[in-house]
Amino acid sequence: MSGRAIGDHSVLRRAFLSRRAFLGSAAALVVAGGAVRSARAIEVAALGARKIHVISDGGFVMPVSMLARDVAPEAVTTLLKAEGLPTDINTMVLNVTLIQDGEDWTIIDAGSGANFLPGSGKLATNLDYAGIPREAVKRVIFTHAHPDHLWGAIDDFDSDLFPNASYMISEAEWAFWTAPDVFSKLPEDRHFFAAGAQRILKAIGDKTVRIKPGQEVAPGILAIDTAGHTPGHLAFEVAGGGSSLVVLGDALTHRAISFQHPEWKSGSDQDADRGAATRRMLLDRLVADRLPFIGYHLPSPGLGRAEKAGAAYRLVTA
Ligand SMILES: [Zn+2]
Repeated sequence: MSGRAIGDHSVLRRAFLSRRAFLGSAAALVVAGGAVRSARAIEVAALGARKIHVISDGGFVMPVSMLARDVAPEAVTTLLKAEGLPTDINTMVLNVTLIQDGEDWTIIDAGSGANFLPGSGKLATNLDYAGIPREAVKRVIFTHAHPDHLWGAIDDFDSDLFPNASYMISEAEWAFWTAPDVFSKLPEDRHFFAAGAQRILKAIGDKTVRIKPGQEVAPGILAIDTAGHTPGHLAFEVAGGGSSLVVLGDALTHRAISFQHPEWKSGSDQDADRGAATRRMLLDRLVADRLPFIGYHLPSPGLGRAEKAGAAYRLVTA
């Protein structure tokens, strides 16, 4: 943990300016794109007695230019047009997965909170609407420490959104974001990602367990190495009643590009080559084992399956 970096005013100032730069483009797009519509709470699957729900944290829009790098813009435009998607803005919904074992709830990722992008941070409100008591959540398991997955763990008053929960995040993810030199590994307009991650991880640190890929982190919840989007990104295979599904986090983020061109470098992956290799590995396994999955940014509620399509894949939604 870097208390030094947090207290350093030049770092905070840089983080503030980077957030403003990031918001500059995104806020203009919100006006252009209108409100992001998504369902509030849906029970998407039952694994034996275990129930899987998806609750929306809202959504936001980003420029299409962030979807792929080192790819001819015309290739991206052609693919988006073929899918009937806008060629200027990309809508990102936020599908938070909840696992219900009777009275015991586990949540995978905690949404964006109040300080990220307009349109996001709706998790607390939507949990209230769904009648899911936050006190019943025993575990908060993070796929990674990007703002839209981590920042919602703490409310506007710096209190835990889930007062009775312990937290889990991968060892590698913790090490990356809490290192004093993390700022040098991020583009300038993402410095506020690190400032935010350090603030939240410091606040929840005492209640946080660091986990590893391959580990059964809770009964029937297995961590899968999906590094690339971030250095310690994890997906989770959730099992029950003889079947299972995979909670992807951001290992596959786009309904068309992630499946039809998993090899394209994503503009939001920390290690773009590793992100691409991870998508291939994961898609092969999802197809071979016929595993359903929930994608954090896939079309609401994020539930789907992958099929082989030529040399690539396609997303099949229910
Ligand atoms: Zn995300």
